[in-house]
Amino acid sequence: MNYYDCHTHVNFAAFKDEVTPTIERAREAGVGMIVVGTQFDTSREAVEVAEAHEDTYAAIGLHPIHSTKSYHDEKELGEGGKEFTSRGEVFDAEKYFALGQSSKVVAIGECGLDYYRLEGDTKKTQEEAFIQQIELANRLNKPLMLHIRNAYDDALALLKAHAKVKGDVHFFAGDWDVAKKFLDFGFTLSFTGVLTFARDYDEVVRNAPLDMLLTETDAPYVAPKPYRGKRNEPAYVVEVVKAIAEIRGEPLEKVRDQLAANARRVFGLAG
Ligand SMILES: [Zn+2]
Repeated sequence: MNYYDCHTHVNFAAFKDEVTPTIERAREAGVGMIVVGTQFDTSREAVEVAEAHEDTYAAIGLHPIHSTKSYHDEKELGEGGKEFTSRGEVFDAEKYFALGQSSKVVAIGECGLDYYRLEGDTKKTQEEAFIQQIELANRLNKPLMLHIRNAYDDALALLKAHAKVKGDVHFFAGDWDVAKKFLDFGFTLSFTGVLTFARDYDEVVRNAPLDMLLTETDAPYVAPKPYRGKRNEPAYVVEVVKAIAEIRGEPLEKVRDQLAANARRVFGLAG
C-alpha cells in the first residue's frame, strides 16, 4: 500500500451496507487503513471488518465522550444509538483485552481526554477510563490511538505517569509548542483533510520531522477538498498526503513513501 488512513470509521452507521465497496475503493487507490472503535460495539465491529479485509486493521477503545452520558451522533451509532449514549459505557478492561487478542488489532483507542463538553464529574470519569486504557495498551504492548481535545497538558501528564508504549495523537489540533511536547515524548501526530482547507496547522506540519507525521481521514467526518460536504472515506487520504507535500514544499513521492513507512512502523503493519 502506498497510503494509510490511520484513523477511519467505516464501522460507523454512516457506511451501513457499503463497508466492503468503500474498503475496495480505498485498496484500489493503494490505501490501507485502521478502523477505529469508539465504544465496545464499534470496537468489535472494527475487529470484524479488519478480519474480513486485507490491508485493513483495527483499533479498539472507549472514546472519552462515550465514557460519560448524553452524547449522540447519528453518523456513528445510527438512530438506535440514543439509549446507549444516554448512560455512557463503563470501561471493562477484560472485555477489551479479549478483543485485543485478534492479530488485526494494532492499537488501543481512540481514548484520551475531551474537555470540549464538560459537565459534573466528567473529567474524573474520563481520566479513569483513560488510565485503564493506557494500562491495557501496556499489557498488550500495543500503541495508543489518542483523542485529545482542549486537554493536551493533562493528557501528556497521564501518559508520562502511566504509558510504557508510544502512539499517535489523532486529529492533532494544537500549536507548535504543544506539538513539540508530544514529538519529544515520541508520539506521532496525525492530520486529516482539514489541511486542504484551513491553514491553522501549516506551522506544525512544516516543523515536525517527516518521520513523525501520520495521515488519516477520520471518515465519515471532515472530507478534504475537493470532496467537502460529502461523506468522507478512506480513499480520500490521498488528498491529505498531497497537502502535506505541498505545505512542506517536498516531492510528493518522497512524502508519500515516508508517511506510509511511518504508519507501518508505528502500528507494526504488514505492508
Ligand atoms: Zn475518530
